[in-house]
Amino acid sequence: MMNYKINHIPIGKIRPGTKITPEFITIHSTANEKSTALNERNWLTNPSNDRIASWHIVVDEKEAIEAIPLNEIAYHAGDKKGNNTSIGIEICESGDRAKTIQNAVELVAKMLYERGWGVDKLKRHYDWSGKICPRIMSNNNWEGWRGFVISAERELNKLKAGEKSNVNHEPSSWAKKEWEWAKDKGLLDGNRPKDSITREELAIVLHRLKEGK
Ligand SMILES: [Zn+2]
Repeated sequence: MMNYKINHIPIGKIRPGTKITPEFITIHSTANEKSTALNERNWLTNPSNDRIASWHIVVDEKEAIEAIPLNEIAYHAGDKKGNNTSIGIEICESGDRAKTIQNAVELVAKMLYERGWGVDKLKRHYDWSGKICPRIMSNNNWEGWRGFVISAERELNKLKAGEKSNVNHEPSSWAKKEWEWAKDKGLLDGNRPKDSITREELAIVLHRLKEGK
């Protein structure tokens, strides 16, 4: 996973600080083949920039930069609902395109995973306002976009599978003998050796022990 930097712009016209509860992630591309994530971030606070346009995260071939907290409004969707309900991610058109897209896929998958969302939560700028954006995915009637969503879903599934495989089904070597004993005696059910026990579960175990069953 690439670096994720938080570099918020100050409160002002393009970051009013209005709180939102995001329900979607909106994908854009910068429409600038030369600018990096840092260039994009710096443009937001450039005194000669008088456009009312902003976004939450920008990603390039080497890093992601968060310019606006994800629970605050940014102006990226060209649509009131889009701005009020979604996190805007700009994908840079500069540098190594494949690497940049891979970074965006991983970033988006992680964000979906953390929120318990599926890829149905992914929107294009186009979905809100009809703008041909992210333009780098608009080829062949949005073939690139469909590929992006498929990649994000694959990455999301990997994260979900990792969660399952991380559950250790074997007790530690130092506890193996006693674990087997407790299982044989029927004191414990023999599942999830690494999980913690609650007080009520302990009471059941103590009771089973006292009753000899
Ligand atoms: Zn856009």
